[in-house]
Amino acid sequence: MPTSSRRIHRPTRLEDVDRARFWSQVDVEPSGCWYWLGPINGKGYGVYGRWMAHRLAYTIVKGPIPDDLTLDHTCRNRSCLNPDHLEAVTNTENIRRGIAAAASEKGGSQKDPD
Ligand SMILES: [Zn+2]
Repeated sequence: MPTSSRRIHRPTRLEDVDRARFWSQVDVEPSGCWYWLGPINGKGYGVYGRWMAHRLAYTIVKGPIPDDLTLDHTCRNRSCLNPDHLEAVTNTENIRRGIAAAASEKGGSQKDPD
């Protein structure tokens, strides 16, 4: 079925995502984290087109994320896409965890592929 598009590759729907291209930008680390090698936004999260890269990875592997839930990185690496390191929680819970994590440790490992 022909689904070619001449537009800039900015998929908004899951069906439009070029999965091979998406996964080619992921580097699996010995630690178990799947580092995103593509663009990172100002908050440290990977982005792919109009998607947050970790949300896209989770959606592909585990299924849709309920509208009222957000994904928390249990490994605290915001650029990690490993669905097993992502937990769907309420936004309130995620913020609470983020504050707690920020209070206990500052910074983190940023990986620059180049
Ligand atoms: Zn991780």
